[in-house]
Amino acid sequence: MGSMKEIFNSLLLKELCKGLSVTGRLAFARKTTVFYPEEKTPQSFRFRGLHALRRYAGGEERCIACKLCEAACPAMAISIESGEREDGSRRTTRYDIDLNKCIFCGFCEEACPVDAIVMTRVFESHGESRSDLYYTKSMLLANGDRYEAQIAADRELDSKYR
Ligand code: SF4
Ligand code: SF4
Repeated sequence: MGSMKEIFNSLLLKELCKGLSVTGRLAFARKTTVFYPEEKTPQSFRFRGLHALRRYAGGEERCIACKLCEAACPAMAISIESGEREDGSRRTTRYDIDLNKCIFCGFCEEACPVDAIVMTRVFESHGESRSDLYYTKSMLLANGDRYEAQIAADRELDSKYR
């Protein structure tokens, strides 16, 4: 009985008609193709892109070298060394993130008590060798300086949902 039904359906080209109906329906539907890079899809304010180290408005770096981010990182991508400054405060003497290891989980920014290490919306960074993806403290601070306006706006928005 089952095979009779299949023969009948194939004679009526049922599967073909079904396929063509999908094509016909989508031919007139709203287009969802995005012409990247000229066009971009919307991003969440929680997007986890390239890392950055932030400063306070006065220029002082936020990071207090507590190493919570280093401890939280499941990929062991963060390396921190710290020292005492002349004013007695503790600051990092080395803060590196190896993006070859990073899985962009966001645990580092979640762990940070002072919003120092954050993940920006930047996703178009690339490296042509492993060393290009090794971000040092000065590179991370430069990212923070460059994207601070967007970072601050995103953190403000994020705080409303917590
Ligand atoms: S995003 Fe995740 S894997 Fe990458 S440095 Fe932060 S904690 Fe580590
Ligand atoms: S970035 Fe944040 S969590 Fe990491 S060492 Fe600095 S203050 Fe601590």
